[in-house]
Amino acid sequence: MNAAACDEFDPTALTVEQARAAVLEACRAVAETRTRSLETATGRVLAADVHARLDVPPARVSAMDGYALRAADAREAGARLHLAGHSAAGHPWDGALPPGSCVRILTGAVVPDDADTVVMQEHVTVEGDHIRCDRPAADNANIRGPGEDTRSGERLYGAGQVLGPAEIGVLASQGISEVEVLRKPRVVFFSTGDELVPVDEPLEPGQIHDSNRHMMRSLLSRYAVKARDYGIIPDDEDAVREALESAGREADLILTTGGVSVGDADYITRILQERGEVGFWKIAMKPGRPLAFGRFGQARFIGLPGNPVSAMATFGLFVGPALRSLAGLPVAEPRTLRARLCEDLRKRPGRTDYQRAIVETEDGVDVVRSAGGQGSHQLSAMSRANAFVVLPREADGARAGEWVEVLPFSELY
Ligand code: AMP
Ligand code: MG
Repeated sequence: MNAAACDEFDPTALTVEQARAAVLEACRAVAETRTRSLETATGRVLAADVHARLDVPPARVSAMDGYALRAADAREAGARLHLAGHSAAGHPWDGALPPGSCVRILTGAVVPDDADTVVMQEHVTVEGDHIRCDRPAADNANIRGPGEDTRSGERLYGAGQVLGPAEIGVLASQGISEVEVLRKPRVVFFSTGDELVPVDEPLEPGQIHDSNRHMMRSLLSRYAVKARDYGIIPDDEDAVREALESAGREADLILTTGGVSVGDADYITRILQERGEVGFWKIAMKPGRPLAFGRFGQARFIGLPGNPVSAMATFGLFVGPALRSLAGLPVAEPRTLRARLCEDLRKRPGRTDYQRAIVETEDGVDVVRSAGGQGSHQLSAMSRANAFVVLPREADGARAGEWVEVLPFSELY
C-alpha cells in the first residue's frame, strides 16, 4: 500500500528516534555539584575523577587459614616446623620468624615479613607445638600482595561514573567517605484539565479523577530526581502561566499532561513564547500524539498528551531518557527482541504503533499477544501488558505467526 496516500501519513512528522535525539540534545546534564556521603551516594553520578589514596590490601595478607612459613623450610613432603606464633585478622604477629618455624595464620591476617608462603591448613597435620606439611610448599602461595586490588594514586573512577554497590564498596575500602556528585535534576509536574478532580474527592457529572499525576509521580519515583507536584491546573491561561512562571524558577524540567492538543495549543504556545519557545511535535507514533517540547526560562518543557496510555508511552520513550540525560547518566537505546505473534493485530499505515502486549516464553520460544483494549484511554491494558509490540510505520497490521519487534517494559519503566 502506498503510505503517502493514507490520511495517517504525515511527511512532516518526526520519527520516534528523531524526537528522542532532539530531546537528548536539549537535555544536557546539570552542571552543579553536591557533596554526598557514601550512605546517600548510590545511583549518583561522580562530578570529578576520584583517585586511590591507599594500597588495598595495605600489606601482604593471607588468602587462607593455614600456616605462614619459608617455602625453603618445607621443600619436601613431611617437613616438620615449630609453631612460633599466631597472626589473626586485625592482630598481626610482630615477632621474628626463626628458621624452621611457622606462624598459625588466618584469612586476612598480615603475613610475617620473614614468611614467603602460606600452606593451607588442610595440607598440614598438627602435632602439639609442631606442624607436619603433607606436601611440598609452593613459593608465594595464598598471599595477597599490597595494592593487588587498588594502588595508591591510581585513578579509580572518572567524572560521569555512576555509583553502584561495587563502586561504593571500593570507595569505602579507600577510606573515602564523601564524594562530589552532580546534583539531582529538579522536575516540576502538573496536570491540566477542568475535568480533573483529586483522587480523594467525589466526582460531579463530567469529571474524572486525575490519574496521570499519580502515574507521573510513580514513574518519577524510579529516577534520581527531585520531583515537585504542582497539582491540578485548570484550563485557564493565567493559571497555567502562573504555574509555569513558578516552575520555570525552580525546575530543570517541567512536565505536564493534557492541554497540548489542537484546541489548547494556542494559549500554551502564547505563554511559552513569552519566556521561551515551544514546538508541537507530531511524532509518527501511536499512541502519543501530540507532544509539546520547548523551554520556559532555564527549564526544559515537555507537554505530554492527556490520554493516560499516550502519557505513559511518551514518558517511557522520551521523558525517561531526558531524565537520565539531565542526571548525567548514560542513555542507551532501548533493546527490543523478536517474538512470534499469537494473533492478528490491526493497524493503519502511517504511524509506528506501540501496541500493549504480553510477551512470554512458551517451550523456549518468545511469543506475544495483545493485552486487549488498545484505546489510548485504556490504561488497564497497560497494566496487563509487559511490553509494546512495535509495528512499523508502513505496516497495515501483522498476522499470527509473524515475528514482530517487541519492546519490553523493563527497558522503559
Ligand atoms: P487533553 O490532552 O487535555 O485534550 O486530554 C485528552 C484526554 O485525556 C481527555 O479525555 C482527558 O480527559 C484525558 N486526561 C487529561 N488529563 C488527564 C489526567 N490527568 N488524568 C486522566 N485523564 C486525563
Ligand atoms: Mg485537557
